[in-house]
Amino acid sequence: MKQMVNDIENNLKQIRTNINNACLRVGRNPDEITLVAVTKTVDMDIVNLSLEYGINDVAENKVQEVVRKFPELAKSVKKHMIGHLQRNKVNKVISEVDIIESVDSIRLMREIDSRAASINKIMDILIQVNIGKEENKHGFAEEEVIEAVETAITLENIRIVGLMAMAPMFDDSEKTRPYFKKMKKLFDKLKKMDYNIEMKVLSMGMSGDYEIAIEEGATSIRIGSAIYGRRLYK
Ligand SMILES: *Cc1c(COP(=O)(O)O)cnc(C)c1O
Repeated sequence: MKQMVNDIENNLKQIRTNINNACLRVGRNPDEITLVAVTKTVDMDIVNLSLEYGINDVAENKVQEVVRKFPELAKSVKKHMIGHLQRNKVNKVISEVDIIESVDSIRLMREIDSRAASINKIMDILIQVNIGKEENKHGFAEEEVIEAVETAITLENIRIVGLMAMAPMFDDSEKTRPYFKKMKKLFDKLKKMDYNIEMKVLSMGMSGDYEIAIEEGATSIRIGSAIYGRRLYK
């Protein structure tokens, strides 16, 4: 356990150095980048120890883990849902999370709005974009994003604050760059439109490609294995 926590501390130091360097390369301010710790499969005692090293944002991708683990967090952090969410499970997570990053259909959006309304909450959401047009990934097609945003702004109990995406997996992470560029372009386009919303979050970049995502404009990166080590699925 001691060794594991040392590793986590060192990993976080390294990641922060890498974030700073990526920002330096493109003239960005590292304060603009939110590091979201993805704790899926990680035991709760380890998660809680890791929070002592400056983690303020935690993410899970499964309803089961959200429900089991988020109430046990030892520190007040921002809680993110980042995995595919079925409509019939929205009621389980609605009071447990601060932001749902994985909004991938209009029907899901409407369900979140109605469940949020029932507990008098305004839920922050991101629109998930399937930027690589991958069959095994969820998310709106690039062409559908405007319509998704225009629906979101009509719903009173959700607040759209940005976009989320995953780049396709490559052995050479440099190949992710065009996908991140496309996301940034879409993000900037939405920002310029005259909606009365604050598009401030561009959530993209994971353990293997976050430096490239930052160079291309990410404001939020979701990091699991680079912090906690390789995931052990039980
Ligand atoms: C697991 C996961 C991550 C983090 O993946 P790592 O490669 O371990 O950093 C980020 N985003 C989503 C949606 C995930 O499911």
